This record gives sequence, structure tokens and C-alpha cells, in this order.
Amino acid sequence: MNEPLLSSIRERYQWALGQIAGAASRSGRGPDAVRLVVVTKSQPLVVVRAAIEAGASILGENYAEEAAGKISALQNSAVEWHMIGHVQGRKAGLVAANFSMLHSLDSLKLAARLERFCAEANRTLPVLLEVNVSGEGSKFGFVAWDERGWPDLAPALAPLTEFPHLRVRGLMTMPPYFDDPEQTRPYFQRLRRLREFLAARLPHADWSELSMGTSADFIAAVEEGATFVRVGQAILGPRPG
Ligand SMILES: *Cc1c(COP(=O)(O)O)cnc(C)c1O
Repeated sequence: MNEPLLSSIRERYQWALGQIAGAASRSGRGPDAVRLVVVTKSQPLVVVRAAIEAGASILGENYAEEAAGKISALQNSAVEWHMIGHVQGRKAGLVAANFSMLHSLDSLKLAARLERFCAEANRTLPVLLEVNVSGEGSKFGFVAWDERGWPDLAPALAPLTEFPHLRVRGLMTMPPYFDDPEQTRPYFQRLRRLREFLAARLPHADWSELSMGTSADFIAAVEEGATFVRVGQAILGPRPG
């Protein structure tokens, strides 16, 4: 183990946990209400190992193939792997085979493919629906930036709650990047309002999780109700390449 690498990751991981606990308390919650997904995409195995050694228990990856390689190399580690990036239809099998949760379910077509692979594997996959609440930034996600469209969005999302091997648990968003996290805050608030809206319209499903906030803005996201934050560079340092 590379000791300087490990100690800097350990320090930043502990710092992030402290920031999350403080922000959770400002939002009237305990530290356990928020889970930290350490985003290891594009990071080499030496960095991923150090993250695990530093205490990370959930790792987030964006590319199914890259992740599958890491998962098989680290299969003795007691970590959960979450898929947080856009999944192409032909990668649905890899996702069903390798991940504990999908944060970025963004189409009915992908859901149908995942359902088929999960049924074959006899497993249930917890999923978050990715929504675009900004109208800019990510080009992925169900369109939800105009609140006047929400009454039509609810029936459009309803079929996603009906797949026997997919379990909707909440929402995820990736807002545009701002230097000032205060500018991102309205999008986090909108995601939370959308969660309340969908919970009222589609009460048979579970809408409890909100995956929002990255290195740039995870503290504001927790203050606004995040239950998952996805933090890479602030803990692991810049991605290589
Ligand atoms: C890369 C990525 C993150 C983490 O970004 P950092 O700037 O490294 O914290 C979070 N969510 C998604 C969807 C990502 O692609």
C-alpha cells in the first residue's frame, strides 16, 4: 500500500464524513441519514484500494466495463458498487451482473432491458430515476425542469415502478456545474419537491432516496435533503488523464 496516498485519502474521506455530518445536522437529520458514495471512475486500482482501506463502503462507477474489471479484481472487498453514469442498452447485462444499485435509470427502454437480465439472474435491482431538473448540464435523465410538466411526468414514470425485478427507491440528478454551490441549491430543492410530488402521485413506490451532490456541492446537497452524495475528486484527488 502506498502510504502517502492512503493517508491523504484517509484524511479527505474523514473530512468529507465530517462535512456530511454537519450538514445533515443542519437539516435536522443524523449522520446515518446520508451515505457517501466515493466515485472511483477513471481511477486506477491502487487508488480504489486506498479508498477501501480508508473506509469507503460504497464505490460509484460510470462505465460498466471499466467497473466490471475493478469489481472482479477486488471481489474479496466488502464494498458495494453503485452505477452512477448513463448506461447504454447493450451494457444492461453488465449492470445487472455487477452492481448493487443503479442511480441513473433514464429510460423505459433501459428499464425493460434491465428487467430481462435481472429476471434471468433471479435478482432485484434497486434503482433511482435520473431526472434533469435544470434544463442544462446533463443531457440524460427524464425531463423535469418545468414544474408545470410534472402532472404528465408522474404517469410517464409510473411503468418504471411496475417491473418485478427493479425496485424504485428515489431520484438522482446531476445539475450543471457552478463555481459557487449556492447556485446549485435551487436544483437540489427542485429535486426534493419532485420527490414529494411523486410520492403523493405514485404512493405505491418508495421515493425515499435523493442522490445529489458531487465534490463541488455535496454540502449544500445534504443541507437540502440528499440521502446519497457522490464524491470523487474531493476525496481521491484529480482523475488521471
Ligand atoms: C464523476 C461523477 C461524480 C463525482 O464528481 P467529482 O467531481 O469527482 O466529485 C458524481 N456523479 C456523477 C454522475 C459523476 O459522473
